[in-house]
Amino acid sequence: MTTTAGPQTNWAGNIAFAAPDFYRPATLAELRAVVTRARQVRVLGTGHSFNDMADSPGAQVSVAGLPPDIEVASASSLVRVAAGLSYARLAAELDRHGFALRNLASLPHISVAGACATGTHGSGPANQNLSAAAVGLELVTAGGDVVELSRGDDAFPGAVVHLGALGVVTRLILELVPSFQVSQRVYEGLPLDVLDAHFAAIMAGGYSVSMFTDWRGPRLTQLWIKSLAEDGTPPVTEEPWFTAAPARSARHPVPGMPPETCTQQLGVPGPWFERLPHFKPEFTPSAGDELQTEYLLPAGQAVPALHALRQVGERIAAVLRICEIRMIAADELWLSPASERDSVGFHFTWLPDTAAVLPVVSLLERQLAPFGLHPHWGKIFTTPTADLHASYDRLPDFLNLARHYDPKGKFRNAYTARCLGRLAVALAHPPRPGRRRTQAGSRPGRPRRHPPLPG
Ligand SMILES: Cc1cc2nc3c(=O)[nH]c(=O)nc-3n(C[C@H](O)[C@H](O)[C@H](O)COP(=O)(O)OP(=O)(O)OC[C@H]3O[C@@H](n4cnc5c(N)ncnc54)[C@H](O)[C@@H]3O)c2cc1C
Repeated sequence: MTTTAGPQTNWAGNIAFAAPDFYRPATLAELRAVVTRARQVRVLGTGHSFNDMADSPGAQVSVAGLPPDIEVASASSLVRVAAGLSYARLAAELDRHGFALRNLASLPHISVAGACATGTHGSGPANQNLSAAAVGLELVTAGGDVVELSRGDDAFPGAVVHLGALGVVTRLILELVPSFQVSQRVYEGLPLDVLDAHFAAIMAGGYSVSMFTDWRGPRLTQLWIKSLAEDGTPPVTEEPWFTAAPARSARHPVPGMPPETCTQQLGVPGPWFERLPHFKPEFTPSAGDELQTEYLLPAGQAVPALHALRQVGERIAAVLRICEIRMIAADELWLSPASERDSVGFHFTWLPDTAAVLPVVSLLERQLAPFGLHPHWGKIFTTPTADLHASYDRLPDFLNLARHYDPKGKFRNAYTARCLGRLAVALAHPPRPGRRRTQAGSRPGRPRRHPPLPG
C-alpha cells in the first residue's frame, strides 16, 4: 500500500510530526504488510497527546481505516471494539445496547487504543483508569504476527498501558456495566483551607468529582460533582456544599470559554456518556489552544501536595489556563500511573507557550518529587529516565516484554528512549529474582485467535 498525507501535527499543534511516511490501511492484511516492511513504525491515534510519543522516525500508521466494528456480547457484558474508534462513537452504541463503561475522560474525542496506551483516566475514588476495563487485546507485532492477549495471561497487565511500544493494537475487549444515569452540578468558591480536613470527603461526595483552581487565589474556582442520578444524595442539591455555592447557570472550567461546549449541568439527569465527560463530542474540548501536564501521586499525599503547589502558586498562575484535581483508583497494570496505588491527579492546562511552560513544569516536578510522582504519559513532562525507572517496579519486566515482541526496536522513537531508556537499558536490567515476571519459556502471549465472544 502507498503512503498518504497524514496529520502534520498533534491536536495541540505543539508537535510537528517528523515521520516521513503515513499509512492508513483498510484491512488487517494491509496493516500487517506495512508493519512487516517498515524499519521503524509508530501508531497515531487521534493525536490528542501533548508530546512526541506518537511520532516516528519512519512510518506512522493509523488504524482509523480498519473496519469500525463494535461487537457487544450482552450475556458476558463485554464489547470487542476496533482500536481506532473514539469513545464518543463507542459510548453511544453501548448505550443503545443498555450498557456503559464505568468511567470516561474529560473528552470523548480520543481513540480507545490511544487512551488505553497512556492510562488515560477520569475521576472518582472508586473509578480506575479507562484501560483497566480491558480484558483482551489484539496486537500486530514487529514481525507482522497477530497476537492476542487476555486477562489471566502473564503478560496482560504489562501489555495494556504500553506507550505504543509493543505493536499495533487493532482491537480491544472491554468490560461493561449496565447503562446508568448521572446528574452533575457545579459549585463555586470553595476556600482551599477547607481541603485540609475535608479533601477525601469532598472527593467521595459524588461518583466522579473534579476540583478546579486557577491558583490566583486561595480557593477552588469550581467543583464539578457528577452523581449517580438514582442515589439522589447530596451534594447534587441547590444547597451550598462545604460552603461552596451552587452555580446558577452552566459553567466552563476554563475562564472565558463558552459553557455551551460542556455537558449538561444544573442537576439535570441524563445518560452516563453525556455527563461523565466535561466536554461534548461535537465541539472542540477544553480551550483548544493549550498545552497540558499531569502528575499522579499516592492519594494520601493530596493535602501535602496541595500545600507544596500553593508555595509556587504565582509561578503556576502566570502560565495557566486552569488546574484540575481528580482521583483515580489503583489498578494492576505495570505502567499505569495509578499502578498499585489509589491516586490523586494534579492536572494543568497551560497557555500554548512551550518556552514559558517548561520551566514551570520542571518546578512542579521538584515540588511534587517528594510525594512520588508519576507523570501522565500523554502530556508534557521532563521527568528523567532514571526517576521513571525508580518509580515503576515493573518497568524492567515491561522492557523484557517489549524486547520479546519487538527485538529490534521497530516501535521505538525518541519518546521511548527518554522514558524507557535505549534498548540496551533493557539488557542492563535483568528481571529481579522473586517477583512475578514474564520469563523465558513462559510465553508472554501466544499467536492465537480470541474465540467469538460468548453471548
Ligand atoms: C483536550 C484534552 C483533554 C484531555 N483530557 C484527558 C483526561 O480527562 N484524562 C486523561 O487521562 N487524559 C486526557 N487527555 C490526554 C489524552 O487522553 C491522551 O493523550 C490519550 O492518549 C490520547 O489518545 P489518542 O487516541 O489521541 O492517542 P495518540 O495521542 O494519538 O497516541 C498516544 C499513544 O498511543 C499510541 N497508540 C495509539 N493508538 C495505538 C494503537 N492502535 N496501537 C498501538 N499504539 C497506539 C501512540 O503510538 C502513542 O504512543 C486529554 C487530551 C486533550 C487534548
